[in-house]
Amino acid sequence: MKPYFAFQWHITDDCDQRCQHCYIFSENACRQIDSMDWEQMEETFANCLDFCQVHSRSPYFYITGGDPILHPDFWRLLELMKENAVPFTILGNPFHLTDEVCARLKALGCEKYQLSLDGLRETHDWFRKPGSFDITLEKIQTIKKAGIKAVIMTTVSGTNIDKIPALIDTVVEHEADVFAFSRYCPTSGEKDVGIEPMRYRQLLADCDRKFKAYKAAGCRTAGWRTCSRTGLPMCGCVRWSATGSTHSLRSVQNVSCWPGAGAARQ
Ligand code: SF4
Repeated sequence: MKPYFAFQWHITDDCDQRCQHCYIFSENACRQIDSMDWEQMEETFANCLDFCQVHSRSPYFYITGGDPILHPDFWRLLELMKENAVPFTILGNPFHLTDEVCARLKALGCEKYQLSLDGLRETHDWFRKPGSFDITLEKIQTIKKAGIKAVIMTTVSGTNIDKIPALIDTVVEHEADVFAFSRYCPTSGEKDVGIEPMRYRQLLADCDRKFKAYKAAGCRTAGWRTCSRTGLPMCGCVRWSATGSTHSLRSVQNVSCWPGAGAARQ
């Protein structure tokens, strides 16, 4: 089996939320919702497959937006993935997930569905929208019931860093398959929320302790990796593991690519 080469593909800006920290909608940058048309999508997909063939890699896609399910050709794209036996993960919202939708995702080859949680109820709903926290937790089981792995991803900033340990407990309680986090890069109105290096290091140490305690207790939620250099935990998410190695292909629009990111498939 060739090593994976992962592409994160933003197919649309369309989304039911307007998160405080969203880079698409920050500072009114998105004046009109942009989406790729079907011709562009077919061409992009073919370019990615060509790229993998040339570099002797197996393609893996992280399909996102916006909320990718809102793209009019979302299902058509997944059919294309299936026809080409290309595995993929969806990074999306919880609002349009039903048992039927998740069964269809599974039938088309979806391996993981990643949802975001940015704190406990009050903090998360402030970042995203009222009700978002509860529906996100509820949909973990909808995803799992269909045989898809449920991933919870948190963007850590100065606003929510104190909530992360309690959030981990909540995610474990709701039986997510994977918990991952990454550090917020200020892009919008939320600029004054930086984290001092030692505070972030403390978070990593706290998470490592929690991870070890949960593991010893037989917890099935996967969490972090340990950095071989520092011995500190690293988040198991592809975004994190690929930090510093983001590439772009000139011929491929709306796609960012991470060599070796397939190692993070869980
Ligand atoms: S859900 Fe994602 S795409 Fe939608 S507003 Fe929030 S961060 Fe942006």
